[in-house]
Amino acid sequence: MSIIVQKYGGTSMADSKCIKNVAQKVVKAKRLGHQVVVVVSAPAGVTDDLIRRAKEVTDKPSGRELDMILATGEQISISLLAMAIKSLGEDAISFTSSQVGIFTDANHNKAKIEEINTSKIMKSLDANQVVIIAGFQGVTKELEITTLGRGGSDTSAVAIGVALGASEVEIYTDVDGIYTADPRIVASAKKIHRITFDEMLEMAGSGAKVLHLRSVELAAKNNMPIHLRSSFSDAIGTFVVDEEDENMEQVLVRGVAHTTNNAKITIANIENSSKNIAYIFKSISDHNINVDVITQNYIKKDRMTISFTVSEDEYEAALALSKKLGKDVKAETVYGNESVAKVCIIGVGMKSTPGVASRVFDCLAQSDVEIDMVSTSDINISCVINQKDYQKAVIAIHNAFEL
Ligand code: ADP
Ligand code: ASP
Ligand code: MG
Repeated sequence: MSIIVQKYGGTSMADSKCIKNVAQKVVKAKRLGHQVVVVVSAPAGVTDDLIRRAKEVTDKPSGRELDMILATGEQISISLLAMAIKSLGEDAISFTSSQVGIFTDANHNKAKIEEINTSKIMKSLDANQVVIIAGFQGVTKELEITTLGRGGSDTSAVAIGVALGASEVEIYTDVDGIYTADPRIVASAKKIHRITFDEMLEMAGSGAKVLHLRSVELAAKNNMPIHLRSSFSDAIGTFVVDEEDENMEQVLVRGVAHTTNNAKITIANIENSSKNIAYIFKSISDHNINVDVITQNYIKKDRMTISFTVSEDEYEAALALSKKLGKDVKAETVYGNESVAKVCIIGVGMKSTPGVASRVFDCLAQSDVEIDMVSTSDINISCVINQKDYQKAVIAIHNAFEL
């Protein structure tokens, strides 16, 4: 009997009607003869609401206590889904990650899964039960509750799929596949039928929140195919797979992704030395802050200005730290800008085709979008722009490359 892992996101678990719909889908898979493990997110809006409540009592909730409250959202979903499945005549059991043994490191709010104990899951599957596991949460070896970062249930599902040796992981959500751009921003975006791990890594890393970045990293590392599809239809969705194959359309650009939760920090006018750069970024990484795009501008022969972007939720910590670092490296000023966005175009076809970057810059120029910072890789061109322009930029690039 094959094990299948299905993950249902927040909108799929939003209310009792949605939960009953999910229960039907799960029971259908079970009755097709599979052993079914289901990973679920908190009902839509619940995690946001829990964060809001924490921030009502303090500006700076501690990571540990925030995880304690955030982990409760997924617990609502697991129990309700188990009840709904049982009412359809199949046996089901819900587990938190502490009960299963989904062990993570101790990095509260962005913990990494280190090990999964499959014995309890296997025992329940062998007893003919559907196993329902709370996504997004983990536990340390010291039994501290952790969470994996927003959107982390996708990662829970892939990690569980890998641990159980499932043949693929099905991720059910509120869109029927991965599109050439966020379909909520670009009405003409097209569904992609197959996409490589590499391209999806870039898309997710560039803000396509349809899949949590670490879920794609894990899937790529373990060659675990993901089938992303809709909870609200039976349509085939998008397969995220290892290699390009003959079924994959050969395209230059696979898609456009964007993020608006960026902030930019500038450390201006410091002595131009690699020691300064190393010192600044070592300190930032020691504080566990993720830096994204970095630029270094020479202002005169021996002076430079360093700018970098971080995610909005790390902005305050990064700015406070940069002000301190600015003093250490005798910067003229240190300042931040919270109103930036990043637009990225992605495609393995760009590797072998010159001139893509210039087409991107040209189309942004024609749309009056100022480019603030640029970073490129073989398969990704990212432009940091003014936040107010992001929709205009995504649509312009999407049109320019006839996606
Ligand atoms: P879930 O709660 O099921 O995890 P998410 O809200 O995290 O769902 O992810 C689904 C959303 O991702 C879609 O509603 C869509 O707006 C957004 N999205 C962003 N980029 C893309 C893309 N390229 N293709 C499809 N959806 C995308
Ligand atoms: N409930 C969590 C969130 O809203 C995890 C998830 O949905 O994947 O971020
Ligand atoms: Mg999600």
